[in-house]
Amino acid sequence: MKLNLQLFALPFRRTSKTKKRMRRTHLKKEVGAITTCPKCGTALRPHRACKKCGYYKNEDVLHLEAEEQK
Ligand SMILES: [Zn+2]
Repeated sequence: MKLNLQLFALPFRRTSKTKKRMRRTHLKKEVGAITTCPKCGTALRPHRACKKCGYYKNEDVLHLEAEEQK
């Protein structure tokens, strides 16, 4: 008498170490693009104004120091 013990879907074969590692080559964290501020030199995401000095494209867009004086 043959018992049917398979009640749910199971993988036919165990995934080999190589197959598992090949799949996981894509599972890595990507490092975002980083540029440096030409004014103060801190690390920045591109196309963002600098939080430290408030400059973007050599222009004061955030006016950080002006707000401190008020
Ligand atoms: Zn800056």
